[in-house]
Amino acid sequence: MVVYDKRFLVWWGLSLFLCKLGSRRQLDYQFNTDGPAVLGNLNRLAGTAQDSRPVNKTLEYFLEEIGGAPIAGLRQRMVQRLIRMKALDPARLQGRYVVLIDGSGYLVFRSRHCDHCLTQQHGETTLYMHQVLEAKLLGPADTVVSIATEFIDNSDAQSAPAGASQERLKQDCELKALRRLMAGLRGEFPQLRIVLNGDSLYACGEGFQIAKDYRCDYIYVFKPGRLPALWQDFQGLLRLCPDQQVERTTPQGVRQVYRWVNGLRYTDSDGRDWTFNAIECTETDEEGKESVWSWVTSLEVSHQTVVEVATNGGRQRWRTENEGFNTQKNSGLNLEHAYSHTCWAAYYFLLQIAHLLLQLMEKGSLLRHLAQEQGKRTAVELFGSLKNMAQRLLESLRFRHWPDEAFDPTAAGSIQIRLDSS
Ligand SMILES: [Zn+2]
Repeated sequence: MVVYDKRFLVWWGLSLFLCKLGSRRQLDYQFNTDGPAVLGNLNRLAGTAQDSRPVNKTLEYFLEEIGGAPIAGLRQRMVQRLIRMKALDPARLQGRYVVLIDGSGYLVFRSRHCDHCLTQQHGETTLYMHQVLEAKLLGPADTVVSIATEFIDNSDAQSAPAGASQERLKQDCELKALRRLMAGLRGEFPQLRIVLNGDSLYACGEGFQIAKDYRCDYIYVFKPGRLPALWQDFQGLLRLCPDQQVERTTPQGVRQVYRWVNGLRYTDSDGRDWTFNAIECTETDEEGKESVWSWVTSLEVSHQTVVEVATNGGRQRWRTENEGFNTQKNSGLNLEHAYSHTCWAAYYFLLQIAHLLLQLMEKGSLLRHLAQEQGKRTAVELFGSLKNMAQRLLESLRFRHWPDEAFDPTAAGSIQIRLDSS
């Protein structure tokens, strides 16, 4: 019988995502003996001395045995390390880390596969789904770091009134999941100064209460339809303080007019009183097309801070979709693929860790310097695409015996990963 060290199996599992193999079975083909350097390289990464390769089922049995929690714990230690070494500091807003909250569907099955599936009726067909709520910490150079995860399941949907709309159901589920997510995040990062960034569904009594209970600031999208009476107050007050206005033109030629109200008051449906600031930004692009954005926030808003709050806080929302879920679904990480029917959570966390490592590689200073030496601006420009980068990594892992100095922790200690877009 062959015994595999757990560190080796974790690296084996991470490599599935780092090399974007797309499915677990590919491990047996791509990391097979026709890639002579795989075993040696992974052994040295893991600090182990395995003399044979596992098969994909080995990984599956291992993850079934340990579950998702230890892998989530590994993610926590990695994020803590990045925070301690101040790699993420340049993206802070008023001294706080911006944490984007976003929900997404990620697994869909045609038959029930566990007790926790959410169900959705499509005509004759019932779909069984798994959804996830993610907290992603915003780093410099457009990095997004998964810091906390909560899986949404059918018990979150149970308290919604019968016949509730899909929209209402989504709100109920995500607000419940957010409270659990924040409890976990605060347990792991008790001192971290955070500003939560969420869409308009969080702009409600429970959304404000969660921020208060877990000692966070917030910046939530403010939509007229979500809080109609408050929206009327906001528009009325904006007319009363015409001095609270800042205008600027972005380097891309977009004209922006920021207006804001301090101390907007709101009483929620449970009779709790809240006071916050609200911002409206009207943009006109070079073709004269106008768009309007609004947020409510507990952050300080003034002539000095309004642009920063709106730009580095509010406007960053699209990044969870673009850099977060979209990248994980469409760049070969294959988030929506069921890597396992039993221990999907463990694979989910392996994917999050691999995505973090890939971003450090792609956006860190080492590859950027290499790109610049070749007259290119970024690593993606140098290699052509993220897919090409994953392919190069796979070729390298399979065929190139990585040099010993790459594994020297003393030498590595002096290498700093800098994430800046300059
Ligand atoms: Zn299920």
